[in-house]
Amino acid sequence: MKHPKEEKTFIMIKPDGVMKGLIGEVIKRIEQRDLKIIALEMFQPTFEDVDNHYPKKEEWITRLGHKTLSTYEQYGYDLISDFGTNKPEEIGPEVRKWLIEFMTSAPMVKMVVQGVHAVDVIRKISGNTLPYKADMGTIRGDFSIDSPALANKEKRAVMNIVHASETPEEAEHEIKHWFGDKELFSYHRFGVDM
Ligand code: ADP
Repeated sequence: MKHPKEEKTFIMIKPDGVMKGLIGEVIKRIEQRDLKIIALEMFQPTFEDVDNHYPKKEEWITRLGHKTLSTYEQYGYDLISDFGTNKPEEIGPEVRKWLIEFMTSAPMVKMVVQGVHAVDVIRKISGNTLPYKADMGTIRGDFSIDSPALANKEKRAVMNIVHASETPEEAEHEIKHWFGDKELFSYHRFGVDM
């Protein structure tokens, strides 16, 4: 019988995770948590693939700009000298471009994971978006120390090893986007659902 909180989620090992040799480590942590990997593939995304992955809504893009603005304020950096503007709606698209450049810089590994509370549990295993804030014991906390203070100064995205869907709705959209009509597999896991 299917549990009411049985979910599918999407997780992707980003270029820094692949380049640090963390593919096995990430998979291990997912399986260790009694979650089931039902699709898995290494691939090299195109600019367009990633462009369609990140929201194009003005609101989301401006939010990225706001985040950068507050990092600059917090550390006393000079926005105008780095960006030529201090408007979040003009900085946002620049940060979005860094994200796409980063996400296309090496192959990635994409997965669909199934299990009870899969969306929340995968976010928990991943840790805070910003590695320097992520708890020890999470993927980001254990294997990275990156921060916007570093990344923004170097004009690149924060390298945080994995991407994981935030809600079941986002997961559905991302699974469709990254796997299309490809097969999601079905099997039993000893000790979990048999
Ligand atoms: P998440 O991937 O945890 O859902 P967000 O949607 O907030 O996080 O951000 C998307 C991606 O943008 C992050 O995974 C990270 O790589 C990058 N990012 C977030 N904040 C910043 C920032 N201030 N500067 C540069 N890159 C950032």
